[in-house]
Parts: sequence; C-alpha cells; structure tokens
Amino acid sequence: MLLISKCMNSIKQPNFIIFGKNSIDEFNFPTNCLVITSKGAKSRGWLDRFKLKNYDVFDKVEPNPSIEIIDEIISDFRDSNFSHIIGLGGGSSLDVAKFVALKLKKFTILIPTTFGSGSEVTRISVLKVNGKKQSFHDDGLFADVAIIDSQFLENSSQDIIKNSAIDALAQCSEAYDSKISNNFTKFLCKKAFDVLENGIMNEKYEDLAIGSLYSGLGFGNSSTTLGHALSYVFSNEGISHGHALAFTTTVAHKFNNSIFYDRFYKIVKKLNFKEIFLKQDLAEAAELVLSDRKHLDNNPRQISKNDIVFLLKKINDGNS
Ligand SMILES: [Zn+2]
Repeated sequence: MLLISKCMNSIKQPNFIIFGKNSIDEFNFPTNCLVITSKGAKSRGWLDRFKLKNYDVFDKVEPNPSIEIIDEIISDFRDSNFSHIIGLGGGSSLDVAKFVALKLKKFTILIPTTFGSGSEVTRISVLKVNGKKQSFHDDGLFADVAIIDSQFLENSSQDIIKNSAIDALAQCSEAYDSKISNNFTKFLCKKAFDVLENGIMNEKYEDLAIGSLYSGLGFGNSSTTLGHALSYVFSNEGISHGHALAFTTTVAHKFNNSIFYDRFYKIVKKLNFKEIFLKQDLAEAAELVLSDRKHLDNNPRQISKNDIVFLLKKINDGNS
C-alpha cells in the first residue's frame, strides 16, 4: 500500500459514489448512525428525509471548525452504540465527520448539501489548530459512501451557491496547473471547470453539483496550489473560504500564467464579490503563507516572500 501511495499516476476515491437528483431517496440508510451536521442543516428538515432509525445527532458544527470539536464529539457519544457516521452539510460538517470516523474507525457516509468543497470525495480534512487552518491528509479520511444529490441546491441561498461554486472552480483550475497533476486529474479538472463555468454563466445551478464532484476527484488526486495558500490568511481574519479565493486564486492564476486566468476572472466579476482587505502586516502574512509547503511545493512556479507580499498588496489595492 505504501508503494502504491507514492505512485504519481494514481487515482483514489471513496468506494462508492452515488450521484444525481433525489439519490438520497433511493439509498437504504443503515440503522444506528451518528449524524454530524450543523444547526442550519437540521433546522431545514433535511434529516427527516432520510427515514433514519435509532440515530444520534451532533448538530453543533460551525464554519471553520477547530480540532477540539473532534474530542468533544467522541466524548459526548462515548456511550452510544452507533456503527456508522453520516456527515451532512457543507465542507465543515463533512471535514469533522470524516475526522471523527477516522479516529473511531467507523463506516462513513458523506452527503454534501453545498457543492464546492469536494470534501465528500477527498482524503483531506481542514480544521483549525491554535486558531489557524490546517489541512490533514490521510487515506483513512475517505468516505465509504459519498452521495451527491443536487436536490439540496433548492434550499441554498445565492450567497452559499456563489461561495461554493468559486471554491470548486479555484480547486479544479489550481489543480490542473499543479506539479503533481497527471493526465487523469487534468481531464477531470478541465471537465469540472467547463461544467461549473456553464452552470454559473448560464445560471444552470443544477450543474454545480456534478461539477463540484469532478473537481473534488480531480484536485483530491493532485493538489490545490498558490491560490489556496494565499487564502488562509484572509480566512484567519474571518473572510469565508470562497470569498477569499475569488481574489487569491485570481492573482495566483495571473502569477502562474494559468490558462484559466481570463475565464476565472470573468466568473468572479459575474458573481460580483465584494473586495477583500488583509488587516495583518503583509510581511508577517507572507511568512505564514510561505510556510504552507503542502500547497506551495506543488505550485507550477516558485514563489518568494517578496512575490507573496506583492500579490497580497495587489489584492489590498483592489488590483486583482
Ligand atoms: Zn477550497
């Protein structure tokens, strides 16, 4: 297994991926589940659609969760006899669910209700450690089953749709250029961009679910790069992931001379994102960005601290 994981031309994904509108209605959910979700997902009544029997719910996942929540859940449900974990919600709920499942070695079903993070098909979980976002990578973080059902889009606000879509677009286009991409991931990423772009530009939001799935499989088997590395310092100041990427991936694509620069820029304009501003000292922020080797080592172009300060300043001056 170790040897396989070092091969560059390889694809890994959940054992079972189910997609298409109303696919949750066809799935036979097991009994004795722990559902990990957010208050919002529960209050929208989504859980009632699953016809679950004998289940527990943890509904306190907030956006940008910190790692402490993992032990909180494990201790809260120590005495419950659940055999499966269901992660339901946006990327944050799924990232928490898969991390708990990894620690407890439980069967995992992941169901995204927003379409952008691709978390349901990746081996990545992003959690805050000491107030800073960190991504954990492990094959044990794969779901056993991922269900991508576009019916959840009907309840999504325009804001959620645009923040999720730009994340998926940033992920697939950064990953296309990644140094560890291969022909298969490039194929997935290019297809993902085409589908997502069509969904946004022609307001065919149904396409975002499948586009986000292709993006997750593509970037999950390669890597996001500079755009994501630059985004975390903005997230640390409370700017949402997608909102930050609208600007950080734009300047990154320009820096990398990406084939996606013009198309990405046009989509950002169409979605009308409000400009962002980093309050932190830019040299200090650049130092933090530079330490993110997981993303930067895979960037197609080498980048220095001065380059990063230049890009952050460009964003702050509204020149992305
Ligand atoms: Zn992302």
